[in-house]
Amino acid sequence: MSKVLIVGAGGVGQVVAHKCAQVPEVFSEIMLASRTKEKCDRIAAQIARPIATARVDADRVPEMAALIREFQPQVVINVALPYQDLAIMDACLETGVHYLDTANYEPPDEARFCYAWQWAYQERFRERGLMALLGSGFDPGVTNVFTAYAAKHHFDEIHELEIIDCNAGDHGQPFATNFNPEINIREITQRGKFWENGQWVETDPLSVSQVYDFPEGIGPRKIYLLFHEELESLVKHFPTIRKARFWMTFSDNYLKHLEVLQNVGMTRIDPVVFEGREIVPIKFLKALLPDPGSLGPLTKGRTCIGNLISGVKDGKPRRYYVYNICDHEACYREVGSQAISYTTGVPAMIGALMIVTGAWKGAGVFNMEQFDPDPFMERLNRHGLPWTETFL
Ligand code: NDP
Repeated sequence: MSKVLIVGAGGVGQVVAHKCAQVPEVFSEIMLASRTKEKCDRIAAQIARPIATARVDADRVPEMAALIREFQPQVVINVALPYQDLAIMDACLETGVHYLDTANYEPPDEARFCYAWQWAYQERFRERGLMALLGSGFDPGVTNVFTAYAAKHHFDEIHELEIIDCNAGDHGQPFATNFNPEINIREITQRGKFWENGQWVETDPLSVSQVYDFPEGIGPRKIYLLFHEELESLVKHFPTIRKARFWMTFSDNYLKHLEVLQNVGMTRIDPVVFEGREIVPIKFLKALLPDPGSLGPLTKGRTCIGNLISGVKDGKPRRYYVYNICDHEACYREVGSQAISYTTGVPAMIGALMIVTGAWKGAGVFNMEQFDPDPFMERLNRHGLPWTETFL
């Protein structure tokens, strides 16, 4: 029986609150805290079990630490924004509480994400006997666990890893992002990067694409090469990997809008002076775009996220594909959110469950692939993200 503190009442926070509430035998008390308390209260009102709510500015370590001291959770699930990661980790260290997030740290004034900042907390978490579990969403998150599962059960050596993220859903809006628009656009407009023969190879943003034929009737879709954070930890923890790439589907319509917004400077992250005050164009754009939370009732179709893996088993070459398909409308019926929030929020809950039940134990900072994948894979099937594996 554990208390859990969820920070961030956006699309993902809503799913995490619902999913934790569905497991009362593990999460005996739940608090949802965020910058805007009304959003927490709105989510709490959807759930039959009592959910405590609070206002917190997670950028302020003393404020965050005070809230942790008051509620005394075993674990903090950080589903605010990547900008808050380090402050929340500091607050967890100060108060002696385990930490979990779904996206690695990004400095607000620089569109660059990597694990260096958070891996630097390794000794501090180890000395305190606490766990920081990084990237417990779908990608990163489940894609790391899929890789660990393949390595444990199906391969002696993994040589090539392709992580392929398809959103075959449609929200009917001219342009919208499925999770926080600022974070999403910063990620997609970066230079692409993949791992090959022991080094990173860079590509121009969205300049490499191919068509992939997705299973279960989703069919062929164009996928684009991006850099994604799990590649960094996976090539470190599975050094036999020679090539690792991440791919995502985008519609032509999405890319057309993105190109125009970039060309006119609306995706800039540096402040510009407008009518005597500074504004950051991408933050202004976020204010204009549909709130990802509002897409829940509008989105139809499915997502398909999985790993295509090649390597050797017993001296023979092997090719393997493991994936989850998730239906936007089914997610909405269950928790009032679309599948992007759902596929992130369910693994965040399962990661916290791994920590508080002791299924995953350790002191320090960890990526998902460092633990036994089996109990996590079993929970995915139980909590709404069933997976399928095939040998090709
Ligand atoms: P939203 O923008 O919908 O929600 C973010 C929430 O965090 C908002 O409620 C916001 O408050 C709150 N917040 C922001 N700053 C602070 C702060 N300083 N203190 C307290 N609360 C704060 O984002 P999403 O729910 O879509 O995404 C949440 C996280 O999940 C992001 O980090 C995103 O990168 C990650 N993600 C991970 C994925 C994965 O597969 N691993 C996939 C998708 C998302 P307010 O409402 O007041 O602005």
